[in-house]
Amino acid sequence: MNRILIVEDTPEFAEAIQRTLTLDGRYTVAHAGRAAEALALAAYEKPDLVVLDLGLPDKDGYYVLTELRNRGHSCPVLILSARNLEADKLEGFRLGADDYVTKPFSALELLARISALLRRVQPAEAAPAPGDGRPLSDEELRDRFGLTARQVSVARLMAEGCSNAEIATRLSVSYFTARNHAEQVLAKFGVPARAAIGAMLFEHVT
Ligand code: CA
Repeated sequence: MNRILIVEDTPEFAEAIQRTLTLDGRYTVAHAGRAAEALALAAYEKPDLVVLDLGLPDKDGYYVLTELRNRGHSCPVLILSARNLEADKLEGFRLGADDYVTKPFSALELLARISALLRRVQPAEAAPAPGDGRPLSDEELRDRFGLTARQVSVARLMAEGCSNAEIATRLSVSYFTARNHAEQVLAKFGVPARAAIGAMLFEHVT
């Protein structure tokens, strides 16, 4: 599970982000409403990624970002702000932000961006190496595991490390449809976790 620190003083936003991330199932979430609290929590929680609001009651998000970098936190920082001026974005990037999303935001887009940032710093460990076995065709996956054509696509995306939100975007289906298929794929393969999917797409010679 990746640890995400949300720095956001508006309770509605904080709750919405927290709900979105928790629903995805791959994240644990800590929340700070003030800059000072954010820095204390960052030191304690060692987050894998920080979602950072710019307007905070004590100091602004730029201060938090600068301090995080000064204190050696190199994790991705995604600024989530109502400020949509180019100057704000440039300042954020100059201070070491990795991405910038403006409010109001789409939950799916936020999830996709968080997932992409984390993949950039944590390359997938589960992808089977070539030579690990023969890749199974779509037809073989359908025959052997009883997957539908759509579930074959979902399984291949899961093996790439896509989250349910990313699968929803890639296949143009709703989040809940994607999650439903992902659960079905896990059940049909008989594996407990997404990390095990990659190996199921290959014929292993024993
Ligand atoms: Ca704010």
